[in-house]
Amino acid sequence: MTSSSLRDRISQSMPRYSDLLSEFVAIDSVSQSTADPSRVDASAQWVAEQLGARGCDVEIYRTRTPEGSLGLPTVVGHYPGPEGSPHVVLYAHHDVMPGGDPAEWTTTEPFTARVIDGRLYGRGSADDGAGLVAHLATIDHLLIEGNGELPCSLTVLSEGEEEVGSASFESFLEQHGHLVDADVLVVADGGNPALGEPALTTSLRGVIQVFVTVSTMDHPVHSGMYGGVACDAVTAMCRLVASLHDEHGNVAIDGLRGAVHRQGTVKRDSFSCIDMSEDTVRADCGIRDDVPLLGQGSVTDRLWFQPSISVIGIDAVDVAHSSCTLQPQCRARLSLRTAPGENTRQAYEALVRHLHNHAPFGMHVEVECDELGAACLVDDQAPAVQVALDAMTEAWGHQAVTLGMGASIPFVALYQEKFPQAQILVTGIEDPDARAHGADESIHLGELERIIHSQCLLLNKLSA
Ligand SMILES: [Zn+2]
Repeated sequence: MTSSSLRDRISQSMPRYSDLLSEFVAIDSVSQSTADPSRVDASAQWVAEQLGARGCDVEIYRTRTPEGSLGLPTVVGHYPGPEGSPHVVLYAHHDVMPGGDPAEWTTTEPFTARVIDGRLYGRGSADDGAGLVAHLATIDHLLIEGNGELPCSLTVLSEGEEEVGSASFESFLEQHGHLVDADVLVVADGGNPALGEPALTTSLRGVIQVFVTVSTMDHPVHSGMYGGVACDAVTAMCRLVASLHDEHGNVAIDGLRGAVHRQGTVKRDSFSCIDMSEDTVRADCGIRDDVPLLGQGSVTDRLWFQPSISVIGIDAVDVAHSSCTLQPQCRARLSLRTAPGENTRQAYEALVRHLHNHAPFGMHVEVECDELGAACLVDDQAPAVQVALDAMTEAWGHQAVTLGMGASIPFVALYQEKFPQAQILVTGIEDPDARAHGADESIHLGELERIIHSQCLLLNKLSA
């Protein structure tokens, strides 16, 4: 089958995959501990049924976290390939982030997919429903092309706790690793620099999340009667949080490292690893003109190769319900992104040390670990990288580039450690408008079509 007839066939099949993605969004498979875990069972079941309907041998696994609790389900489906053909693992996760405040969504309800102007909106549409659907569609089209046979041995791996740090994945790899021991791993969970511009991600930051609690009193008291002497916990928390950056907005935690930017190296020259400009970041985020960017050094460096830290949640009295009262306790959730090359455990210890050392007025600060996920660098000289860049360039009609990603896919580092010989391809479907994790998350259906096409080309080329 020529590439142009494959392209046409994929194009005609897209309404079906748009419907499939809508089905996935409706499952509402939020993996955070505060959500109903049966929804993640439902999404695992959905993935298993989809694979089963495509003639795949499929199994759902549950393994334990290092702390001993049962992890969320991982789906593994396998197709044997022709003798001597490579083993390719296609990865995408089936859990999603919480929908957030429905009032912030301007397009649809978080778990009701809706297509507007070629984009499909809904939680999980981009992250990582699009990856899952891309894999299912790739299998469909390759099965048609091969009259029911795939060109290579293929395994689909779909975990259910990517959004919460893949805590049981290490034990999955210990117990069932042989199932996913691949020549090439394709991780369809990355992003592209712009609509219509494909990219492979070759570096990922790590993630460390903690809950921090500051306690100042046994109970709330009158702010007029005791203010000026008794410290409210929200003020104390604000002082603690303010200590995390220096006056330029650089992360001010002793003992954290930044990765060396790869500018000028062979890697950059051969694959034109792109730079991010300040204007692009401002436009992507909608940053107001009068607001400066945080930190110093190149924007690319700060986004992909340096650590960052943010407050992603804080429990305080909301303004509407506030009264003249000093609050005795305040809890916040902090998210630290670590540079590629950073040791996750040491970075976590550095953060905990910092929070204790900067306890405001010597107050009691409690730190509890929420999530640890390692950063990683992918070997961009691996032969499969060039094959993938060629396949993406052909499918998109635009030169594919390599780039870094400030976000984290903890599974990749775990996999890399276990299977150092595997070539890893972190591919992109999301464009900067995808707003993964936020309100109005969406995927551009044209980009979904192109990733399906590029995956078909990739698997054919790897098998040739
Ligand atoms: Zn994801």
